[in-house]
Parts: sequence; structure tokens; C-alpha cells
Amino acid sequence: MEISKDKVVQVHYRLEVDGELVDQSQGDPLTYLHGHNNMIPGFERQLEGLKSGEKYAFTVEPTEGYGERNDEAVADLDIEIFKVDGELSDQVTPGAQLQMRNEHGHPLMGTVLEIGDSHVQMDFNHMLAGKTLNFSGSVESVRDASAEEISHGHVHGPGGHHH
Ligand SMILES: [Zn+2]
Repeated sequence: MEISKDKVVQVHYRLEVDGELVDQSQGDPLTYLHGHNNMIPGFERQLEGLKSGEKYAFTVEPTEGYGERNDEAVADLDIEIFKVDGELSDQVTPGAQLQMRNEHGHPLMGTVLEIGDSHVQMDFNHMLAGKTLNFSGSVESVRDASAEEISHGHVHGPGGHHH
């Protein structure tokens, strides 16, 4: 069975960026429903048509990955936001990833760039924005999704949602 829309796919993967291993499946393979925007577009597009047992290696450009970097996503925020009882939290160090909320209350991950006297410069670009992604791995299994999985847009059971 080939990978195509509405298939439940299990893959092992390695992701290398700039020659460094950034992420990989650990133990269990990654399980996802293909064709429902659960993965970045370039990943799904290049897995399309592969069968169980096949190995793969391909490159995903930023436009089909995490997008280009946006300079407007870098912001100087009032340092008071980062203080607890008047003290700067230990978690606020350059390079640290912090979960914050935007003005609508939605969670947003940001990276601390610089800490000044009155402001903290945060980068809300995705860590992999602007990066060329090198994926390699193997297809472990491909099966038809159930009607319920397709209507929910995600996988149920092992490796998926339990609800
Ligand atoms: Zn569901």
C-alpha cells in the first residue's frame, strides 16, 4: 500500500539541519494521518507514493517547511513581564525557549535573544524558520484510516489520539 491521502503512516525519521541532528523518532515510529496538514507540506509531499519498508532521504526548503524568517517576529518586551515577585525568572536566559501568550491569549513559543535593563528581546520565529531540512528514514507501515480518523483529521490508537 502506498502513502496517499487518508492513509495512516508510520515512519522512522531523522532531521538534520546545517549538518546537525535536530530531531529523530525515538523507539516508536512517528504515526500520522497523511493529507490532513499534520506534517509540514514538503514532508508529506515527498513521502507520497512510498510503500512500507522503503527508505527515504530528501530535502525540504523553508517555503515547504517552517517558512522564511520574519524580522517582524522579533520584539522587545517589557522586562516586568518576565519577573516573578520582582525577580527575573531563572528560565529567562539567552537562547531559552519560553512559552508565552499573545494578545488573544494563544500560546506562542519564543526564544530569548537578549536581556537588557528594561526589555527582553524575544524571537517568535519558529526555531526552524528559514532552515533547509534534511530528512531521512524508513516507512514502517501504511494502512487505510478509519472514517472516524478521517473526520477527526488525526490518528486514533497507538501513536495517535486517545479520546
Ligand atoms: Zn479523534
